[in-house]
Amino acid sequence: MNTQKKYTKSYSCEFFPPKTEKGAENLRATLTELALLKPAYFSVTFGAGGSTQEGTYDTVKEIQEKGYNAAPHLSCVGSTKENIRKLLQSYIAIGVKRIVALRGDMPSGMRDMGELRYANELVAFIRSETGDHFHIEVAAYPEIHPQAPNARKDLENFARKVKAGANAAITQYFYNSDAYFRFVDDCESVGVDLPIIPGIMPITNYSQLARFSDMCGAEIPRWMRKRLEAYGDDKESIVAFGEEVVTELGRKLLDNGAPGLHFYTMNQTGPTTALWKNLGL
Ligand code: FAD
Repeated sequence: MNTQKKYTKSYSCEFFPPKTEKGAENLRATLTELALLKPAYFSVTFGAGGSTQEGTYDTVKEIQEKGYNAAPHLSCVGSTKENIRKLLQSYIAIGVKRIVALRGDMPSGMRDMGELRYANELVAFIRSETGDHFHIEVAAYPEIHPQAPNARKDLENFARKVKAGANAAITQYFYNSDAYFRFVDDCESVGVDLPIIPGIMPITNYSQLARFSDMCGAEIPRWMRKRLEAYGDDKESIVAFGEEVVTELGRKLLDNGAPGLHFYTMNQTGPTTALWKNLGL
């Protein structure tokens, strides 16, 4: 963990683009509230292969226009270099300085993988098109990416996108801090040196969390699952338990050198604000 301690801590929040006017109104209110916490930036997810792409741009534009820093996520799967080039230019035009660069996942039914196959190729493309304009974040998987053949290969692939020009990494969420510390040590052992910021998923809804976790390969430890299951429909107890467990996780990560936290807000104010305050950020 020694390499991580030297970095200035960065705290950031993630949104997804709203699909309805009501969702947009909710996000505006959330943005106003979370901006009071002064995060370094607000990132906005991007639907690989088409869905929500305009929504990402519109949301990013609105955040920038309100005077906050926005970081669009940009995935390459199913896209063309020309498309990505245009998007990069449109972000430069509205003053965006950060990008979260991803491969993304092919939507079911789509067959054309696109011109860039992996995130390392996207990072290299962004650098070749725009030089050092963007601060580039990439994704990291302390519990191993679900499609990786093994942990060693996944680490080699992670190192490849760092070498292509990433400035920092944000992790998939996890509830087992040992996985994060081990991943950081593994990076250190192969000379990969950049801030690796833990992604923090607040717990508010067990069935939704279980579904997400199955899809993205994030583990909910048995002792947590069993307790969350036992709460059934008692939302208040789930939220209270989640807040306690995730606060402890955040504290352990920061006390042991993690260079900040990235909150998956799910466009909600309450859970992120509670964690932020509990941790004294
Ligand atoms: P990559 O780094 O390309 O890795 C994908 C897989 O391929 C891994 O198994 C890796 O080991 C392997 N691999 C990588 N490079 C090579 C190579 N050169 N040769 C062979 N194998 C290779 N998804 C979205 O659709 N929209 C979002 O906005 C979004 N935001 C995210 C934000 C964060 C912080 C995280 C952690 C994930 C996010 N995702 C998002 C999910 C992400 O798109 C998926 O996890 C996707 O499956 C992998 O994307 P990646 O950029 O990590 O891919």
